[in-house]
Amino acid sequence: VCGLKIYNNATTGTLLIEDQAQRDAHYAAWPPGKPVAVHAEGETVADILALVRKYRRRTHFCHISTAYEIDLLRAAKAGGLPVSIGVTPHHLYLTETDLPALGALGLMKPTLKTAADRDALWRAISDGVVDVVESDHAPHTLAEKSSPMPPYGVPGLETTLPLMCLAVEAGRITQDRMIELVATNPQRIFGLRPPPGTYTEVDTNAHYTIDRARLRSACGWSPFEGMRVPGLVTGVWIRGVRVYDGENVLVQPGFGKRAAQVLA
Ligand SMILES: [Zn+2]
Repeated sequence: VCGLKIYNNATTGTLLIEDQAQRDAHYAAWPPGKPVAVHAEGETVADILALVRKYRRRTHFCHISTAYEIDLLRAAKAGGLPVSIGVTPHHLYLTETDLPALGALGLMKPTLKTAADRDALWRAISDGVVDVVESDHAPHTLAEKSSPMPPYGVPGLETTLPLMCLAVEAGRITQDRMIELVATNPQRIFGLRPPPGTYTEVDTNAHYTIDRARLRSACGWSPFEGMRVPGLVTGVWIRGVRVYDGENVLVQPGFGKRAAQVLA
């Protein structure tokens, strides 16, 4: 494993540790070489920072969504604590004002926040406080999302890169900063070494509209449908083999390998 994720606030599913003594026990037991990733919202960020201060374990704060949390983490970084910060495209591009239009498709944990929170996330991206732009991978089907108790979460795997290409095009970040946020920083934080010959080729001049008809996710929808974005993936290479040509997957199931198998 590349790390441990601890769910410290409620989300979909039963994984939840709300007791600070239990969290402390996990921090005490976890080996120092690998990071802890945390789902922590609001005051819980401060609770986790107390453990980071006590144990000096490298900790990645997943999907940070508010100005308040950014302020806590900015101060923690300035104070030398070994923390890294991720934000999601849905918190960067959507706010609570999108909820009436999105309905259950806009329900995720952490929830959509205010425009002021969104602006604080963009500022933290610009000034280098945020380390990673990470998607949610919660491909709940439309049937599940239209049930009386819809599950939290959105799909984001296919839309993260074009949405960050949009940020480059809009002049919010440089292309080098985008590559850090979506590739090299996550590799560094989680110790993921891509095997030689593994990369993605993107046509940053190609534009298209995010449309459920062209999504590959089995859930068949996106909270970003209708947005016009640049950044078309035209090829993916894994271990020197072209596995995707922009339209079709070119290898059979089973081609994938665990990093340990490749690098052993
Ligand atoms: Zn989470």
